[in-house]
Amino acid sequence: MTRINPGGSIGILGGGQLGRMQALAAAQLGYRVHVFCPDKASPAFDVAFASTVATYEDEEALVNFARSVDVVTYEFENVPARTAQIVAENTLLRPGAYALEVTQDRLVEKTFLNDAGMKTAPFQMFETEEELKDAYKKIGRPAVAKTRQFGYDGKGQKMIKVAKDIENVMGVTKGAPSILEGFVQFDREISVVVARSASGDVAAYPVSENIHTNHILDTTTIPAKINQVVEAKAKVMATKIANALEYVGVLAVEMFVTDATNEIIVNEMAPRVHNSGHWTMDGAMTSQFEQHIRAICDLPLGPTDALGAVRMKNLLGNDILDYEQYLKDPNATFHHYGKNEPRVGRKMGHVTWVDKSE
Ligand code: AMP
Repeated sequence: MTRINPGGSIGILGGGQLGRMQALAAAQLGYRVHVFCPDKASPAFDVAFASTVATYEDEEALVNFARSVDVVTYEFENVPARTAQIVAENTLLRPGAYALEVTQDRLVEKTFLNDAGMKTAPFQMFETEEELKDAYKKIGRPAVAKTRQFGYDGKGQKMIKVAKDIENVMGVTKGAPSILEGFVQFDREISVVVARSASGDVAAYPVSENIHTNHILDTTTIPAKINQVVEAKAKVMATKIANALEYVGVLAVEMFVTDATNEIIVNEMAPRVHNSGHWTMDGAMTSQFEQHIRAICDLPLGPTDALGAVRMKNLLGNDILDYEQYLKDPNATFHHYGKNEPRVGRKMGHVTWVDKSE
């Protein structure tokens, strides 16, 4: 339990929009932020007190960075293990290396979740074509093949709907350690953003419902169209996961829900602030970014109540050019991440609508 009081300093590994919004929240609470990112055009640099442009393998730069701050956090889950280790040897790392270890590998993650009493889709690991055939015999179809590491927004994944699809799996996984997952016939996708402070206090946000398009989050709505039993159960599950990980910071847990049976299956978790929690910036008593800073600095956690019915929409690529319409909308709050190039599918900003009459 080490509290870092306002006036202290926070390091962030990664300089994307999540790092940027974390830095803004940290500044609001009186902290100075040092951002470490290999890409000099990173949006978080615009709002940081100090910047380091270096690779995650640059040990000298990492040591200097870690020693310049009271605590280091990160905005992406693929922080290399050696990078995390160097930082942890030189300052506090929150969340710690264990959260990274568990969430960087789908096999380790699913095994951890099952051990913690959570239901996941059935899964089998494979690497070779032979092992894939074996896994397919056990899992059947429909199924989804996923590489164990570095998959996001649907990358490194292949759906198996008809038997012939199996022939195309190896072309996607390319012999990398992978899993074959049974396909879940869910009604809706939800997520729970939960915070756990260094002292072990836990606070979960209301459950959000997420719609993905082309594997990328499109909209998040609050409240989710689920009953109170599922709402309560999902929050308890996320809390259990945060405790089992001895987690410090904001954690997002993505789940599949089947309405008729109230069944909840955990899909995956992210050891960081999450896109499905962006609604909290304008639609909750405490934003997920502020909550993360409170948690890693061991301050009291803030209230997580929603301010009404909330809808968040991601602005991808050229969607960002429509900002005029959002600025003219009295119910909308517009967020621009300060990125220059609106490439197709790139997260450029988001809009939130809060209906306080609900
Ligand atoms: P992931 O990369 O695991 O988050 O998967 C991306 C998206 O693919 C999820 O948000 C789901 O919409 C879908 N998906 C992934 N795994 C499964 C599964 N086992 N069953 C059904 N849909 C899935």
